[in-house]
Amino acid sequence: MVQIKDVKGNTRDHRTATHTHIKGLGLGEDDFAEKQSEGFVGQTVAREACGIIVDLIRAKKMSGRAVLLAGGPGTGKTALALAISHELGTKVPFCPMVGIREMKDVLEGEVTELTPEEAENPLGGYGRTISTLVIGIKTTRGTKKLRLDPSVYEALQRERVTVGDVIYLEQTTGACKRVGRSDAYATEFDLEAEEYVPIPKGAVHKRKEIVQDVTLHDPDFANSRPQDGQDMMSMMGQLMKPKMTDITDKLREEINKVVNRYIDQGVAEIVPGVLFIDEAHMLDIECFTYLNRALESTMSPIVILASNRGMCTIHGTEDIVAAHGIPPDLLARLLIIPTNAYDADEIKRIIQIRVKTEGLAITEPALEKIAEHGIQTSLRYALQLLTPASILAHVSRRHEIDVLDVGKCEDLFIDTRRSAAIANGANSGENK
Ligand code: ATP
Repeated sequence: MVQIKDVKGNTRDHRTATHTHIKGLGLGEDDFAEKQSEGFVGQTVAREACGIIVDLIRAKKMSGRAVLLAGGPGTGKTALALAISHELGTKVPFCPMVGIREMKDVLEGEVTELTPEEAENPLGGYGRTISTLVIGIKTTRGTKKLRLDPSVYEALQRERVTVGDVIYLEQTTGACKRVGRSDAYATEFDLEAEEYVPIPKGAVHKRKEIVQDVTLHDPDFANSRPQDGQDMMSMMGQLMKPKMTDITDKLREEINKVVNRYIDQGVAEIVPGVLFIDEAHMLDIECFTYLNRALESTMSPIVILASNRGMCTIHGTEDIVAAHGIPPDLLARLLIIPTNAYDADEIKRIIQIRVKTEGLAITEPALEKIAEHGIQTSLRYALQLLTPASILAHVSRRHEIDVLDVGKCEDLFIDTRRSAAIANGANSGENK
């Protein structure tokens, strides 16, 4: 049975909501950061340094190295990492994570998404994993992934359709009905689609390339769902050990052989993704050891760490204190980019951008009041107040956030300092 799945992007979506205004590093032609550009305000030196990192990544000169963004809370470290990923384009997967649990898995691979060119293309033919022959089709309802059923998959295998091959898609009755290799050889396959994928008129008879992205995450994924097994990875998984949740070294070696063969044949290349590890001081010594080793690998992603801590104990050790809680041997491999606190004008500009991005309206005195929180408390607290304040304005049938709304929000939602003071007060009361 053919399955049609929505094309999922990489995992950047769930952490980008507060950064949707960041569209890039905002660097000019001369690579200097403009005061305000592409959603970025200030932090010009750090943005320029990040621009150089982008150049190094593009020139493939980052191997064995990593980046550390170091600065106080809310100084734009995550925003900078995202901007780097924007600059690198959607072909380069960006995977943000906090903490340590999945670090090892993530280091081993990440899924990529459609490039704008692919998404633009009417027939957008593409295959997304080496394990599954998948064709992406742009429909009126967006781009769909068409997972081929086993008979088609086998037929394409018989035809030795492989990475980079041109295949041929033909539409007959509004659904994708045929898949073959050329005009002369348009073998007909019945695709029992669960959902028909209409192909726009005029797109019939177009020839498209299959491009497959090899991700090392796929074997784990396929292996954990062996019942899906029409594809190569899950078939291999079933052969090795059905229903296992972890992939064996032997299977990984086999997969590596296949991947390396493609690379040797020049039909595949490795595109390292960007792994962003926020709160890097939370990693423990074991993770750091793993990370150090992983950076040596040719398959290593570009690692960007961020920390808002100064000197602190390395997790997992009794008393080894190091800058940012990172062992010195790893620190020595890092290009460290500092981020600085914002001035009042920059904070106000950032809040204004967020007001616009969230489609809100605010009076000048209310903006001043929120910006004051950005200076006195934290930028993040100031930004947090915006949405609840807009709801209060809405309830009072006002179109603009007013000082009254901001004042009310200050009482309803306290900042961390006040919250800690309350908790401390309660604790000292209990201890009496
Ligand atoms: P933490 O150390 O607490 O993780 P951070 O340094 O990663 O903080 P961000 O999360 O990047 O800080 O920034 C907080 C918010 O402020 C986000 O919504 C971010 O998009 C926005 N922001 C930070 N700096 C800038 C800037 N220079 N221009 C525009 N928006 C910014």
